[in-house]
Amino acid sequence: MTVSSPLKVSVLGATGSIGRSTLDVLARHPERYRLHAVTAQRSREALRDLCLAWSPARAVIGSAADAEWLRAELGAAGHVATEVSSGEQALIEVAGDPDADVVMAAIVGAAGLLPTLAAVEAGKRVLLANKEALVMSGSLFMQAVARAGATLLPIDSEHNAIYQCLPMQHRGGLERLGVSRLLLTASGGPFREWASADLAEVTPAQACAHPNWSMGQKISVDSATLMNKGLELIEACWLFDATPAQVEVVVHPQSIVHSMVGYSDGSVLAQLGNPDMRTPIAYGLAWPERIDAGVAALDLFTVGRLDFEPPDEQRFPCLRLARQAMAAGGTAPAVLNAANEVAVQAFLAGRLSFPGIARVVAATLEALEVHAADSLDVIMCEDARARRTAEALLQQRSG
Ligand code: NAD
Ligand code: MG
Repeated sequence: MTVSSPLKVSVLGATGSIGRSTLDVLARHPERYRLHAVTAQRSREALRDLCLAWSPARAVIGSAADAEWLRAELGAAGHVATEVSSGEQALIEVAGDPDADVVMAAIVGAAGLLPTLAAVEAGKRVLLANKEALVMSGSLFMQAVARAGATLLPIDSEHNAIYQCLPMQHRGGLERLGVSRLLLTASGGPFREWASADLAEVTPAQACAHPNWSMGQKISVDSATLMNKGLELIEACWLFDATPAQVEVVVHPQSIVHSMVGYSDGSVLAQLGNPDMRTPIAYGLAWPERIDAGVAALDLFTVGRLDFEPPDEQRFPCLRLARQAMAAGGTAPAVLNAANEVAVQAFLAGRLSFPGIARVVAATLEALEVHAADSLDVIMCEDARARRTAEALLQQRSG
């Protein structure tokens, strides 16, 4: 099919790992897509280079001072095509910009919630990489998708795989489709084979060196603790209207099978590919068509073998904590997410050991009451409370 006018794409978190992979796919299809807006928090040089290379209509950066710097740099280069703004309100406004058709939600962490929701509420095609937004606000988020008639396409490779293994029209319950379970694959992270005792010595550099995927720091640490799989379990429940019991985690160290769907007749459908996020990104951009993603064809003879094993929740308790938070419901997943963000930052800053991440999350969950997550105000308030609680726990541990 030829597309008459290019789709306008906004990339929230354009300077990050997913943002850069998205631009790589867009660059392969200039006739199909035009970059409408780009955003970043602090990487002003990278954002300047993107503006000069792509001439998006809009760019948003975290601080007013950086926006000033960016305007001056673009002005000096004779580049006037891009309107530069700053701050959270500008980010939310650009996310819902009526001129854009597609929004890639690739901000990391809770900071992505309001912008991603703004894109949903504006009825966009939303490519969801920012799993934390859905984990925090699952019920409200999915209601907003339905109300606004937005098209939500999962970019997380596992959820993208499951989406591809489900019938096209999969709204309205897994049972009706004959689905018995969702099999979420996990690489197991860099410490899959480490003894418990050795995990106390893990450094941030070791935790960020993922064996199969090259990703931002936060998700790399989450992959190492298996909190990433915990967040993804919650994400799968909301995206596919599944119960936690219907989602089985399978450790698959090669990261070639990106996830699977089990049906009641015994069939298991899987999506395979090289571990490269450009595949799910291209799927989301072109859906329901397919386009070249720049990813090499999978060579099964080089892969040779595919291994599967159960996760070890003793050594990696974050997966269990996420399951418990989802079962508790309400604001518990938002608390889990916020405590994890604080703990991961502390670990990266050398203030907390690797096993300490799970301990801080567990203690924060234990300390806070679960509320009904029936408004954004409640969710944001509990997010802030969880951050304060986790921070206080960190102070106690170091004091
Ligand atoms: P990253 O750290 O590489 O990039 C994050 C982007 O968000 C950057 O552009 C940064 O400027 C922006 N950002 C950071 N803090 C912000 C704030 N407070 N306000 C506004 N913008 C902010 O992260 P990433 O690895 O690209 O991951 C992005 C999201 O995609 C995460 O939610 C992650 O879980 C998810 N994801 C990533 C991968 C991957 O392969 N990297 C795979 C699956 C899902
Ligand atoms: Mg994933």
